[in-house]
Amino acid sequence: MDQDAYEKVCSVCHRPESVAGKLMRLPMNMYLCADCMDRTADMVESQMGNMNGAGAIDWSKVMGMYGAPGSKGEKSNEELTKGDNTKEELPKEKSNEDLKPEEKEENENKKESPKGPKLNFIDLTGLPFDFGFGGKPKVKKKPKGEYTPLLELKDIPAPHKIKEMLDEYVVGQEHAKKVMSVAVYNHYKRVATKTMDEIEIEKSNMLMLGPTGCGKTYLVRTLARILKVPLAVTDATTLTEAGYIGDDIESVLSKLLAAADNDVDKAEQGIVYIDEIDKIAKKQNTNSRDVSGESVQQGLLKLLEGADIEVPVGASSKNAMVPTTSMNTRNILFICGGAFPGIEEIIKRRLNKSSMIGFHGEVKNPEEKDLTILQEVETEDIRKFGMIPEFVGRLPMVFALEGLDKDMMLRILKEPKNAILKQYQKLLELDEVKLEFEDDALELIAEKALKKETGARALRSILDDYMVDIMYEIPKDKNIGTVTITREYLEKTGGPKIELRTQ
Ligand code: ADP
Repeated sequence: MDQDAYEKVCSVCHRPESVAGKLMRLPMNMYLCADCMDRTADMVESQMGNMNGAGAIDWSKVMGMYGAPGSKGEKSNEELTKGDNTKEELPKEKSNEDLKPEEKEENENKKESPKGPKLNFIDLTGLPFDFGFGGKPKVKKKPKGEYTPLLELKDIPAPHKIKEMLDEYVVGQEHAKKVMSVAVYNHYKRVATKTMDEIEIEKSNMLMLGPTGCGKTYLVRTLARILKVPLAVTDATTLTEAGYIGDDIESVLSKLLAAADNDVDKAEQGIVYIDEIDKIAKKQNTNSRDVSGESVQQGLLKLLEGADIEVPVGASSKNAMVPTTSMNTRNILFICGGAFPGIEEIIKRRLNKSSMIGFHGEVKNPEEKDLTILQEVETEDIRKFGMIPEFVGRLPMVFALEGLDKDMMLRILKEPKNAILKQYQKLLELDEVKLEFEDDALELIAEKALKKETGARALRSILDDYMVDIMYEIPKDKNIGTVTITREYLEKTGGPKIELRTQ
């Protein structure tokens, strides 16, 4: 049955969404409207007044007020899901009072102990339905200050090993790979040795610059996979100062916690990658409060240097309904990345390049030169771009990735362990068909990708477009043994070369 064909109805007051307004979705296909939510909160408040601080709230009474499922006179959830057509009276679950002592004990054991996170004054585990955090999510935690290193000293691969592994996946970017390998090696050494005596090794948080699609995120993802540490990738543009529309800054840690299966110990040794960091540069000439720029930088400061942070569990912002847990960011490696458009000008100005160009008469193509100018970046340029000094100061490793040229595009198509071409070849291999590409066909793909200016990301979409017909037609004919994609085929002036199977 198509669930979407029916309008959603509040599970408490039974009004449809068109009448009650936007409904909040609860587990077990239940919904709650804003009014019922408010009435519940009012009821809680009045109950609190009667409680004089002792005892817990009787939620069955609270929900009974609304004739909620599970309350007296109403069908239980289970009954509802069994369908309305069943005439048969379903056996009611025995209440604890009706049970013999031994059954009672068994019943108690069956119930999960209410270990779930609690709001300040309400034990949500008593709710007759599950908000998604009644008793869960369970956060695994060690006593404060204690942790088991994810990577023992002997298990941390040496920088050259890390780079070798990165080489298998990431094409080019030699400098970036080298810097990252060393930084990560040092970072996990610092984590593994725990105490640092008098010589406190500083965190090696990183700041990567590079045009879009040149492999920044890919490098970090590969790194986390090699080291088998949890990784959270997040976008700085979604972050705002607490209280404003957008994700709270702590949400980056919530993601990491989720990536570590709610194991705080693991998450506290993970990697956080914050993309588009250039988008939170200080706004120039603004009188209004910069809630998504400078304030976010300020907010990130304490995360970057290492502090105990209250993190919302399973949500992107803190509020009364979201449980929180405390996380220490001392051993979390933060990597920020961004394209920093226009920073080349700042670098050039600093290097006084414009006046020097006269001496380097051979610079024929200024765009070509721009691909390497980024390598000259220094923290001073980043500050001029709009990042506050404290922020830049907490990212000691600053380096740039190369912009991709045609040659790199070609290599990205063919060389990485999971190169796009290899993926297609593997797919057709399963149909026992060999897939080949002529060099000039690949060149055409690389040229087209360069024009799109979205880096290597464009390669996939271009190739996907071209390959649809091939992937559709080839399995039709069992006699085809080899397909060679030609430039003519891509330009629609010819077809692919087909060789039949020799049997
Ligand atoms: P960005 O620099 O914008 O973060 P990504 O890392 O997301 O770009 O790159 C997009 C995709 O392009 C990656 O998933 C990867 O497949 C491919 N890619 C980009 N650069 C490289 C590279 N140097 N080597 C191999 N693949 C790359």
